[in-house]
Amino acid sequence: MQRLLVHPTPKTDESIQSYLKRLSSQHGVTKLDRFLEMLMPSCRGKILEVTPEMLRKVPGIRESHVKGLRLIKDASTEQPSYHYGKVALPSYHMLRKRWFCPDCLNEDHIYRASWQVAWLPLCTRHGRALMEEGAKELDIPEHMLAANDNIRSEFIETQLILEDRLERDTAVAPESQSVVQEVDRYLRRSLPKRAVNQLDDRQRQYSRRFFPLRGVDRWRFFECLQTQMIGVGSTSHALACPSNTLF
Ligand SMILES: [Zn+2]
Repeated sequence: MQRLLVHPTPKTDESIQSYLKRLSSQHGVTKLDRFLEMLMPSCRGKILEVTPEMLRKVPGIRESHVKGLRLIKDASTEQPSYHYGKVALPSYHMLRKRWFCPDCLNEDHIYRASWQVAWLPLCTRHGRALMEEGAKELDIPEHMLAANDNIRSEFIETQLILEDRLERDTAVAPESQSVVQEVDRYLRRSLPKRAVNQLDDRQRQYSRRFFPLRGVDRWRFFECLQTQMIGVGSTSHALACPSNTLF
């Protein structure tokens, strides 16, 4: 392919999907998978298969672009995972469908990588829950809502702390105490043994239905992180983390 005519600088926390979608629009290609096939044939039109090496071969893409983008596939790990700064985010920590904050999208027209992190369900900028593309309603427990239907401030505070830890971890070499690994321990404790075995065996087809990162369970897991990791949960609704001893 010829050198790209336009190659915008990635915005803060921009996902690779958002960036390449912008790039394809600017080159007059409406379908992202078609653009990917033209640009990087080896990813077979799949955004989740794009690696840093593939991106580096695209004429016009600079190293600073590759470094600035998030959720590019990490081809060096056995467990499928994605680059998030210097942290590797396991694929099972990510949401499959696209999530977004409508207010943020209206303001800056990019999709943030943090919106795809399954244990970060809020937009702290606008004090609201993120929305799933194509979904009509969110199953937010009532006690998480303030009178104006915004998310209560203690939950916003929790997400700010988690986001802050994730941001700090992206700036240093990953270590055993990264927030991703800490969340991972709680996640694994809540899964039935056979789901954990599937993860440890590096099975790509692990059973998503066991993961506490969907629907109401996602909110419960967020509250579990609040009480267990941060210790600022409301006492009336404090939740123990779900435990796999039930299975
Ligand atoms: Zn927002």
